[in-house]
Amino acid sequence: MKHHDVIIIGAGAAGLMCAATAGYRGRDVLVLDNAKQAGRKILISGGGRCNFTNQKVEPANFICSNHHFVKSALARYRSSDFIELVERHGIEYHERDHGQLFCNDSAKEIVTMLLTECEWAGAQIKLRTEISEITKNSEGLFEVLTDKEHYSCQSLVIATGGLSMPKLGASPYGYHIAEQFGLKVLSTHAGLVPFTWHSEQKQRFEPLSGIAVPSTITAKDGTQFSEALLFTHRGLSGPTILQISNYWNPGEAISINLLPGEDVRAKIQQALEASPKQSLRNALSQWLPKRLVEVLFDESLLNKALNQLVHAEREQLALDLESWTLVMNGTEGYRTAEVTLGGIDTDELSSKTMEAKSVPGLFFAGEVMDVSGWLGGFNFQWAWSSGVAAGQAA
Ligand code: FAD
Repeated sequence: MKHHDVIIIGAGAAGLMCAATAGYRGRDVLVLDNAKQAGRKILISGGGRCNFTNQKVEPANFICSNHHFVKSALARYRSSDFIELVERHGIEYHERDHGQLFCNDSAKEIVTMLLTECEWAGAQIKLRTEISEITKNSEGLFEVLTDKEHYSCQSLVIATGGLSMPKLGASPYGYHIAEQFGLKVLSTHAGLVPFTWHSEQKQRFEPLSGIAVPSTITAKDGTQFSEALLFTHRGLSGPTILQISNYWNPGEAISINLLPGEDVRAKIQQALEASPKQSLRNALSQWLPKRLVEVLFDESLLNKALNQLVHAEREQLALDLESWTLVMNGTEGYRTAEVTLGGIDTDELSSKTMEAKSVPGLFFAGEVMDVSGWLGGFNFQWAWSSGVAAGQAA
């Protein structure tokens, strides 16, 4: 049996960050992964350019049953620390809306940077390794049985990620290990994910596919996001929908403001005063794509001149534009979700070290636990911060 100080299961964002951190502390580190490539999700992230962090990271950008949990790790390894690492490796990057930072060239550079850090820190990585069993022996060491070798270690870090994108090797393995050691796992569902139409909605709205409009969307709990909304063949997508999906439960309505930041009633009144004989169709087509106007409103209403609309019709029009309410069928699920909501209950873990309170030596890092971030580089920041926290203690 080969012994290592630290074994990390999962060579993704959190596992690699953890490995380098522990390695630099002089720990003998081995990372095991069943995939044939390390950091596969990083490679496809951000459209191949990896939105690796955000300029402004706050605990409020994360969803976790215990919202204090993320504070310590995020404060100890900040986005500025990761930016400094990226700069030290000469990776060029740029900022997009809402403080999102992306590589100028390719997400590959982030994976290369992490692998280089692991190499410099002396951490070994073994890919294509299936783990068959993990146990804790009478001496308090973990034994990791794989299809190739039998290992033991003092500290075991589970960084196997969530369930999103099964075709990239996502697996529930981390949850199984947590349950095996008696830790609570909160129910999971897909997050940062497009919504799908009901069949009648599909018939009506499918012709709109490809249209993008600015929007403010409000979830049932009052959470609001203002970004682009995209109509697709299957339903609704775009940044606002992905963001709101993190706060949505099946059966709940969402409310869409199609003219965000505008006083809709005043806008209608101004149009009426400026050109009273103008048709509603023409007025609305100056504010929204024509195809959307035709699908949203009745032909007979659209044909009316603005000065023919009675007060109740104008009021209904304002409501339809500023709070178009939809109950969607569901989401596209883990197949296209960027994250998994839920996971290992953070009440089971130390927020400083990510170690299980009831199982000394067992650590978790990254998305496997019940922490999910908004769209915008927050999920990677959690992988970096929690990976460093575990790597400093394991
Ligand atoms: P992962 O990166 O998923 O790594 C888990 C590792 O564990 C994998 O290497 C996997 O092979 C391994 N593993 C799993 N099961 C086993 C097992 N049984 N045995 C051995 N190894 C196992 N976040 C952002 O912040 N910015 C973005 O731009 C962004 N874009 C994204 C785009 C897409 C398409 C997706 C799906 C996600 C995106 N995310 C983004 C989210 C981000 O990728 C994840 O939150 C992050 O990768 C989580 O890191 P992790 O290390 O916890 O898990």
